[in-house]
Amino acid sequence: MKRRLVAGNWKMNGTNASMTELQQLAAAYPSASTDILICPPATLIARAADLTADSAIRIGAQDCHPAPSGAHTGDISAPMLADAGATAVIVGHSERRENHDESSALVAGKASAAHASGLTALICLGESLAEREAARTLDIIADQLAASVPDTATDADTVIAYEPIWAIGTGLTPSPAQIAEVHDFIRARLGGRFGPDAAGSFRLLYGGSVNPSNAAAIFAIPNVDGALVGGASLKASDFSPIINALE
Ligand code: PGA
Repeated sequence: MKRRLVAGNWKMNGTNASMTELQQLAAAYPSASTDILICPPATLIARAADLTADSAIRIGAQDCHPAPSGAHTGDISAPMLADAGATAVIVGHSERRENHDESSALVAGKASAAHASGLTALICLGESLAEREAARTLDIIADQLAASVPDTATDADTVIAYEPIWAIGTGLTPSPAQIAEVHDFIRARLGGRFGPDAAGSFRLLYGGSVNPSNAAAIFAIPNVDGALVGGASLKASDFSPIINALE
């Protein structure tokens, strides 16, 4: 049975003071029937990994460089993240695709780098509002999926997150039918590429304005295996009910 996953993306939020939220989560989940991941900023990864070591919480990063080391001022490599205690890394988040001009080819390189360091890659895909309104959503998802997921990806080292850009941080969410359409499509495309058995085992997360009030309804949608949560992952009191909606 595939374990479902709730991942929190703290984005550029969090200082040492935020570790109290993580300690609350660690105390609340000494064990769990779902996988729980928190991706704090890179500055907090090592401390967060130490604080959560005896709990069900795992720590991830929000990005990595495709190269293992070298002259890349300001960047952080996958081996460094693994060394700091991360077990996963988000790649291809729309904020990085937009703000840092990241192509799907670069995202695939980052995912491969993550895999080479034993990290799970959470690969993000999603359409803009203009693309949805132009009825291009499935074309965009198909292109991003084909080019961002390395050929060597497996269900054990790769998680796909569908995050419509217009739903991120806006309080807007797609209808259950819209989420189901995209998740079914992603599953079918993975089937065409990796075979139907493997495709069924990949975990597909929904992300974009997930909160304690809408989590249960989103988790009830077929082919939704968890969530990638931004704003509502910053406080343990918001994140816990989202986890509990899956537990
Ligand atoms: P949000 O962000 O939950 O704040 O909408 C989700 C994300 O960007 O991963």
